[in-house]
Amino acid sequence: MAVEYRIKEMVLTLQGEGALTGTAVVLLRFEGCNLNCDFCDTDFTGTNGEGGGIFSTALELAEAVQSKWVSNTQVNVLCTGGEPLLQFDRQLIKEFHAKGFKILIETNGTIPAPEHIDWICVSPKSNGILLQHSGDEIKIVWPQENIDPKSYADLKFNNFWIQPRFDENYKKNLQTSIEYCLANPQWRLSIQTQRYTGIS
Ligand code: SF4
Repeated sequence: MAVEYRIKEMVLTLQGEGALTGTAVVLLRFEGCNLNCDFCDTDFTGTNGEGGGIFSTALELAEAVQSKWVSNTQVNVLCTGGEPLLQFDRQLIKEFHAKGFKILIETNGTIPAPEHIDWICVSPKSNGILLQHSGDEIKIVWPQENIDPKSYADLKFNNFWIQPRFDENYKKNLQTSIEYCLANPQWRLSIQTQRYTGIS
């Protein structure tokens, strides 16, 4: 069990990509990652982002998440990173559910997700061994060396996404992603709307 939770940032925003695009969430970015992808552009180091900090109990973290939510509806907490499963534990799931939260998680799939997470999005990386083989959505950043979407096509996911890699070759990556989805309709194009809208 984690003795503390290290959070890089915590903000109320809209999910920018995937099947829940446009959905209000409290984005909870956990500090740290177990991979070091060459295309990574996420700052997950430290606890100094907006709403970030060190929370000594699951209850303290759950209350902080609750305080960000402005509606009286069920809280959607989007746990991302870095790799959130490095810090996730049963106590956190218990506290989040005790407050009625819907727990959404974005993971690189190298750590099996614990039970009772409400929404699992896996984004496999070529430098990590995939151990989480089921969930709600799988998202391939494309192109990626040594990653072939075909090798994930039979896994137990409900949504299959190809997401153009955001780098200096974005236009080309977008085009090859479109072509891939046209040739393989099981896969849909994922656009990172946060890059155009300014949402987190
Ligand atoms: S798994 Fe994700 S957060 Fe971690 S280094 Fe790779 S791209 Fe960055």
